[in-house]
Amino acid sequence: MSIMSISKELTIEPCYKCLLHCKMCSSVGIPEDIILTDQKLEEVLKLYGKNIAHIRLSGGEPLLLEEKILVGYIELINQYCTNLEVFEILTSGITGIHINVLNKVIWILNKIYAKEKKVGVSLYGDDIFHEEVTDSYGSYDITIHFITNLIKYKIKVYVQTPIISYGTMRVLNYCKFHNLSLKVIKCLKHGRAETMTPEVFSKRKQQLVVEEMKREYDKIIVSNSLKERKDCKCDRKNKITILPNGRVVGCVGMKQRGEIMKDERICEVI
Ligand code: SF4
Repeated sequence: MSIMSISKELTIEPCYKCLLHCKMCSSVGIPEDIILTDQKLEEVLKLYGKNIAHIRLSGGEPLLLEEKILVGYIELINQYCTNLEVFEILTSGITGIHINVLNKVIWILNKIYAKEKKVGVSLYGDDIFHEEVTDSYGSYDITIHFITNLIKYKIKVYVQTPIISYGTMRVLNYCKFHNLSLKVIKCLKHGRAETMTPEVFSKRKQQLVVEEMKREYDKIIVSNSLKERKDCKCDRKNKITILPNGRVVGCVGMKQRGEIMKDERICEVI
């Protein structure tokens, strides 16, 4: 199978602006004023567009982007990604204009041509834990309100959480109650994560928490970052991430590692 025939997953990180201050944020310290241009996105989509099956619009906070910027991206995606299966937005739901944020999501999803459209929302625990991690008072209530609205308007939604501590079990209970899928990702020692209490678990310990969660709930999606190497089908042949400056790397874990994309497996990197 040639590289070009592989179904690719594209993560678009258009800008690192965000109103939260999550301790383990992988974008911390990276300039917030650079925004991915249409031209840079088009260069990548021209090359890979037909082979892209899955797009994730991430950030920073992608819903902070102005409508005219989003229109440019959407037109390019619809033009080049003619075999798009899944389009998802990964967000905290926090933009400061809480009434408009839901409208913005509906507007984007209506404009994109993809078979499946969904929204992933980051949640870190109960109110106290979530606000401690995001360092933002009131962030829990806004995010929960946002998820409630997505459910009400029948938008497909899942929750995403890094395994920070056994506090993650509180997110599990929330998802169980609302029958939502829960995607678990590896908590990385990015940003101020070193100062987190309790300290960030080792990968092995995070995997044990995930095993416990899976025994309790069947809607757990385990990210490649938490899989054993032998079970991980992820490599740079099927993953592309485009950063605000247009640089293309294998996955988000590689964005802090200089300009050269190393020939390493994604899971060794993150
Ligand atoms: S919501 Fe995402 S981008 Fe914003 S601070 Fe938290 S981890 Fe970083």
